Amino acid sequence: MFGNLYLVATPIGNLDDITLRALKTLKEVDIIAAEDTRHTLKLLNHFEISKPLISYYKQTEKHKGEIILNKLIEGKNVALVSDAGTPVISDPGEEIVKLAIENNIKVIPIPGACACISSLIASGISASNFSFFGFLPVNNKDKINKLNEIKNYTTTLIFYEAPHKLINTLNAIQEILGDRKIVLCRELTKIHEEFIRGNISDILETIANPRGEFVIIVEGCTEKISDNNYLNTLSLDSHYEYYSNKGLSKKDIIKQIAKDRNVPKNEIYKYFFNSK
Ligand code: SAM
Repeated sequence: MFGNLYLVATPIGNLDDITLRALKTLKEVDIIAAEDTRHTLKLLNHFEISKPLISYYKQTEKHKGEIILNKLIEGKNVALVSDAGTPVISDPGEEIVKLAIENNIKVIPIPGACACISSLIASGISASNFSFFGFLPVNNKDKINKLNEIKNYTTTLIFYEAPHKLINTLNAIQEILGDRKIVLCRELTKIHEEFIRGNISDILETIANPRGEFVIIVEGCTEKISDNNYLNTLSLDSHYEYYSNKGLSKKDIIKQIAKDRNVPKNEIYKYFFNSK
């Protein structure tokens, strides 16, 4: 019989946030696959758990994925953990989950801490509809393109960001999305936990040298925009996807995109000819 792949959430700061089920799972599995084995070893030592560890991080996902899959096929139960929080969410794991599913291995989530959800629920910004983007691209041009693509989303927007890139990212958000209401959620579950609420411009004036870990919660677009304006802010691929989801044929999608953007049909055709 095949083993199970457990996706085990670990604390994002406060070790008391480990769940009973996470501890039970980590104690019972045969192997723990960890993003950084030294980091996970500290957590396991704290809870007096001793298990064989295998490293599994972004650059080794393919090779280590095969090793883990073989262990699962041999009948070993494997727990996947990341350095902090929920595996797969802006952390390694997506590849092994796909591989496991393709090979009829049972994938079992063991829920727990996740920085984006903890931030959202305490932000005071609408949690009824939200979009999570993880880290924005590092390259400034790609960052701007991404922000342009999402600037008309009416859902609450959630981003992760490293402290040394925070100011640059807040400036980019302000430039493209406007001076929106945001919440900076800092050092969640730790001693210096803090929620900094306000408009981007006000917040930029108060944070000179950001330290610690941050989640950025941004209010969704509140301006009324027409469908056409909205579609024209999307990338061509997203524009295509919009009509494709409505069931239009390739020919009609190209015709419609050209009409929306007021450009010749063959320009759009050329763009999609090789890729779609
Ligand atoms: N998988 C993790 C999760 O479930 O949230 C996220 C991992 S991602 C590599 C790390 C980013 O998550 C950080 O750069 C920060 O944006 C956010 N983060 C993680 N822990 C946090 C904390 N205690 N307080 C605020 N943000 C945190």
